[in-house]
Amino acid sequence: MRSLGKLLLEGTYTTDKEDLICYGYDASGLDNCPATVVWPINTLDVIKTVKFARENGLKIIPRGAGSGMTGGSVPGEDSIVLSFEKMNRILEIDAGNLTAIVEPGVINGHLQSELEDSGFFYPPDPASLNICTIGGNVAENAGGPRALKYGVTRDYVMQIEAVLPDGRLISTGVETSKGVVGYDLTRLLVGSEGTLAMITKIRLKILPAPEAIVTILCAFNSIELAGKTVSKIIASALLPRTMEIMDRMTLMAVNKYKNVGFPENVEAMLLVELDGNRRAIVQDAEKVSNICNSFEGKIKIAEDVASRDMLWEARRAVSPALYKISPTKINEDIVVPITRVADILVAVQRISEKFGIPIACFGHAGDGNIHVNVMVDKNNKESVAKSEKIVREIFKATLDMGGTISGEHGIGLTKAKYLDMELDAVNIELMKGVKKLFDPENILNPGKVFLS
Ligand SMILES: Cc1cc2nc3c(=O)[nH]c(=O)nc-3n(C[C@H](O)[C@H](O)[C@H](O)COP(=O)(O)OP(=O)(O)OC[C@H]3O[C@@H](n4cnc5c(N)ncnc54)[C@H](O)[C@@H]3O)c2cc1C
Repeated sequence: MRSLGKLLLEGTYTTDKEDLICYGYDASGLDNCPATVVWPINTLDVIKTVKFARENGLKIIPRGAGSGMTGGSVPGEDSIVLSFEKMNRILEIDAGNLTAIVEPGVINGHLQSELEDSGFFYPPDPASLNICTIGGNVAENAGGPRALKYGVTRDYVMQIEAVLPDGRLISTGVETSKGVVGYDLTRLLVGSEGTLAMITKIRLKILPAPEAIVTILCAFNSIELAGKTVSKIIASALLPRTMEIMDRMTLMAVNKYKNVGFPENVEAMLLVELDGNRRAIVQDAEKVSNICNSFEGKIKIAEDVASRDMLWEARRAVSPALYKISPTKINEDIVVPITRVADILVAVQRISEKFGIPIACFGHAGDGNIHVNVMVDKNNKESVAKSEKIVREIFKATLDMGGTISGEHGIGLTKAKYLDMELDAVNIELMKGVKKLFDPENILNPGKVFLS
């Protein structure tokens, strides 16, 4: 593409078919070929690309690593995919102010390792942390196991530099730990799924690393008892940093994929991790173990760092392991109030039995966020026809319990048709108004979040 060549350096864009194919998909399983891929190396490249897109009637689709679950970075044919992978520098770690400044293409896990070396940590830890980018995390307001104690990406973003769809550069938020001047545009951009602005720089809050960590694995003979254990632990004024659940189907899938030796003759497992002062967490671990025992759970404590790492590696392999046995599965990430975790797990089991389609459940049970995997075979028409009904029933049960249809994966393309199950017309109208204000010509990530 010649005129793009006048604006950008050789090697920072492509129209080669094989490249385009590689940038047309995400983890939702959807894919499409864009017209061009641009790899900006700085903010100016982003502004130049916007100018080019506007002059040539093209849309822009921001992309991090394409690990999104809802089609957020999947392009239309008339689109430029703006892949941030080369803007991947950690610009500053400021221990005195507990902040870090990063470019959007920094891989979450790279930031984690960099901080660990100096005694700090960045709490949001999506299970995809070895591949996903901080820009993608901000755009999706990503969570992760540690969200139970530490919150989600939104709680750590202090400032954002972003390019608007008309090419203007904005900086939102404050460098300080507090600031209430005007509307909170930073929080608006977090979770905006690449539909309002292209994020080019982020100032994050970081924390001192905890002194010690204890990891407990607990097996149960009923998923309901595992769910009840979660609520009981929280109600006992204990706050583990993670409380992950895996059901029987998930355990079997991970064993097959990684051969980690999880017990298969159990119905569910909880992975509970506590962090903080060494003496305090030993006491808390004992209380957690007692609660697990009172719900007939069988405890195992990870003895050293290697066994803890092995458990987390296995936990992070859950999603690929389930894809391996059901490549066209539908993955939803509902959230219910913590006291309803057992109820939703039972409700999902009933829906699975009613439709005769297996549903695997795993996820961040401690904060009520369950990944519900409907194991649909897209080559089987009957099972595909049932899948939307299943998803609607799961969403209805979730909403009836006071929950939400997405805790961390966003709406993107795949969930747009369910938006009005949760949001009323006034909310949707206000949100569409915000989109129009930022992007009156609808050139940035069109078709995402809203059906029209
Ligand atoms: C195995 C696996 C496990 C996962 N576990 C978790 C989990 O525990 N918690 C969780 O929250 N998610 C999880 N996810 C989902 C996914 O990793 C997150 O949504 C992640 O934040 C996406 O980051 P990405 O860099 O891959 O972004 P992409 O998928 O490339 O993009 C996601 C969205 O962000 C937009 N975007 C990307 N970069 C920018 C930018 N610079 N400016 C503006 N918009 C941008 C895109 O347009 C798109 O709408 C998991 C995914 C997989 C495959």
